[in-house]
Amino acid sequence: MTPSQFNSAVLAWFDQHGRHDLPWQQDKSAYPTWISEIMLQQTQVTTVIPYFQRFMTRFPDVFSLADAPLDEVLHLWTGLGYYARARNLHKAAQQLVAEHNGEFPDTVDAMERLSGIGRSTAGAILSISRGVRAPILDGNVKRVLTRFYAVEGWPGSTANQKTLWQYAEQNTPQQRVGEYTQAMMDLGATLCTRGKPQCGSCPLQADCQAYQQNRTRELPAPRPKKTLPVKQTYMLLLQNDTEDTVLLYQRPPSGLWGGLWSLPETTDLRDLHQETGLEAIQESLQPLTPMRHTFSHFHLDITPVLGRLKDPTDCVMDAGPLLWYNIRQPQNVGLAAPVKKLLQQLARQPALRLEI
Ligand code: SF4
Repeated sequence: MTPSQFNSAVLAWFDQHGRHDLPWQQDKSAYPTWISEIMLQQTQVTTVIPYFQRFMTRFPDVFSLADAPLDEVLHLWTGLGYYARARNLHKAAQQLVAEHNGEFPDTVDAMERLSGIGRSTAGAILSISRGVRAPILDGNVKRVLTRFYAVEGWPGSTANQKTLWQYAEQNTPQQRVGEYTQAMMDLGATLCTRGKPQCGSCPLQADCQAYQQNRTRELPAPRPKKTLPVKQTYMLLLQNDTEDTVLLYQRPPSGLWGGLWSLPETTDLRDLHQETGLEAIQESLQPLTPMRHTFSHFHLDITPVLGRLKDPTDCVMDAGPLLWYNIRQPQNVGLAAPVKKLLQQLARQPALRLEI
């Protein structure tokens, strides 16, 4: 299959079987394309749709996003995960307003200078919104090309990335480039899926090496395994005497869960005051069932602990601003995923609340 036969087959398939009615396909300008591309990273279309719609209603353009408090952006992102994406969107919107009068640049290089935009996302935005011939290589496209050319080894390795970008580049057509971008993403998401590729319906089947060699199960090869280290922490659900409120603090803007609201933590309950500056009534501390939260680079084993502060009206933490969060009437703030889970659990189970 020549590159031109490759892209013609993919486009012909897309015309007949591709998805044409997703919310972000109704307006193909750069802003909605950008928001959808970022949301779709590591996230399924069905999960993204309601988040995209809420986000676009609240932030219909670059200016409204740039002007918004980060907290509000993070709140609309709560549950979508990978919060660095939301922080980068906010920062890039501010860069676009400050450096480009709110317009998107028209080259991949200039796009890549914006926070959170890599080569593939830049290619997707430029090809879809402006018809610029820029290849993409997101997770779906990587899987299709790895199988089609039977690329050995983990596709994320530097050598394979280079090879795959070359294939992506050579197959990108001169015409209908935006549709080709969408077609490749669609083909990867709907036919060439990780678990059960539907090769029988695939326009590339005749020349697909993985299919011909009966190796669709083993390609792409998984990332080489590494054992993740385990860290332990206590997360304190410190309740107020009279109300359904729990103490939260805002994490610093960068780093783990940057800018999100979280529960005070300590590695040793006896060192709570020293580690956080907070003083709890020791007899009130009541450990609950531990839970594990896994990040890309470590597991965090969390032991939630219910408790009361000695003086709830006069508490300060060095780590960041504090908030008494009402679990019955949740405020619009961005929450770290396990924190959200614990607060919801607490709201659902009044028996867990302290009697003292
Ligand atoms: S033939 Fe099968 S493995 Fe090859 S690209 Fe198509 S769906 Fe993927």
